[in-house]
Amino acid sequence: MPIPDSKPAIAEGRLLARFPFLPQASPWIAGLANKHGIDLDTLLEGPSMEKARLRARQRLLESLEKDKSSQSNNDVWTEDGQIIEAFAFYYARLVICASEDEKLIARWAQTEAERAERMLVSHKGVAFDEQHLDLIARSYFTKIKSEDSVNSGSVKHGFSSMKSTGSLMMNLNQVEQGKTWNIGLSDYIEVCPKITGHRWRLPNTDIKDGWIKLHHESEYNSSKKLARLMRERFKQEIERDALSRVNDVTTELAIRLAEPVGMLRSQMSKIQKDAIELVGASQEEWPPCMKNIVAQLTQGVNVNHFGRVFMASMASTLALPQEACVDFFRGAPDFSEQTTAYQVAHIYDREYTPSGCGKLKVNHNCPVLPGDDRICDIEWMNHPLKYIRAKQRSNSMRQKVEQKTTSDSGDGESQDD
Ligand code: SF4
Repeated sequence: MPIPDSKPAIAEGRLLARFPFLPQASPWIAGLANKHGIDLDTLLEGPSMEKARLRARQRLLESLEKDKSSQSNNDVWTEDGQIIEAFAFYYARLVICASEDEKLIARWAQTEAERAERMLVSHKGVAFDEQHLDLIARSYFTKIKSEDSVNSGSVKHGFSSMKSTGSLMMNLNQVEQGKTWNIGLSDYIEVCPKITGHRWRLPNTDIKDGWIKLHHESEYNSSKKLARLMRERFKQEIERDALSRVNDVTTELAIRLAEPVGMLRSQMSKIQKDAIELVGASQEEWPPCMKNIVAQLTQGVNVNHFGRVFMASMASTLALPQEACVDFFRGAPDFSEQTTAYQVAHIYDREYTPSGCGKLKVNHNCPVLPGDDRICDIEWMNHPLKYIRAKQRSNSMRQKVEQKTTSDSGDGESQDD
């Protein structure tokens, strides 16, 4: 994996606090520890580190709960805020290493990488600061360069065919889009296999002289694409770093971290228990939206992309075998074994959470109308997984009533005898 030998200097505490896994953050954090007398004992038990430990727990718990991740309330413009963020990361890494659980480590690395990606791009897809994006990208990629969009020429793949005309409208668009980034081919091919979507496949990229140009798209500008590539690299590095530290956790340290590790494990087993209950779901307990998609695919109806992702994520949550999930799509008019297997594997790997009822309705994947299904009509029904739980509970109560009736009538018969 090509990681740059020499990394750009980053001295700004605000940036290092936000991205404490950066290689440049280690000496900065060591400096803070020296300046404020923060040693291992202080980090593990000192009152001054209480906020950092709480923030670490929050981040660790978020890594277990898919699709749940909050931004920090700490003001990283102040040194106090920077200390909390930086040492929260260190404490969380100690706990996760003490767990010696590769799955927990991978989930934590994934959550930290996703959080970092979100910080690199604003909700409008514009980089929070392109100068910082450049610094961080050069810390992880050997070849990276940018060009102003004004000079970036035409855009490929039909995303826009306009050339720079100097018109006011074009200039405004370019200002909004930000820079156009180019990444070295060897860096790109290290991370792109982990990312799904046709735009990331090599034949669909703009390759020239060993560089790949990340073109702007209307809702996906070049900075956002670079941040997506960086997320993969962040995850790889955070995970590799944590795994390399597992053996450094001494027995004494493991004992001192037993409480937060226990808290993590118990939360994990609670989530797994919920999942196991769902895994037992029979087809009769599936919600109408899921049954409808399976029926449509079987009949060769072209189910939309949203419905397909939902179907695969439900299959993954219910722990159906991947091959069985691929089989659902065999009737689709555009079925390709290889592409489907790849996409299904991606959804299983990432443990996607199935979409809720609201999104399914908006995307035309909810087949019921009021009065069609008693459970779907319940006021709090907002997720197909809740449907399965409600159905399981109602089935189990019905069985209990039936058993009681049978046993009562059996008692009666024996008395008659
Ligand atoms: S209401 Fe929700 S659970 Fe019921 S069919 Fe529609 S999307 Fe599925």
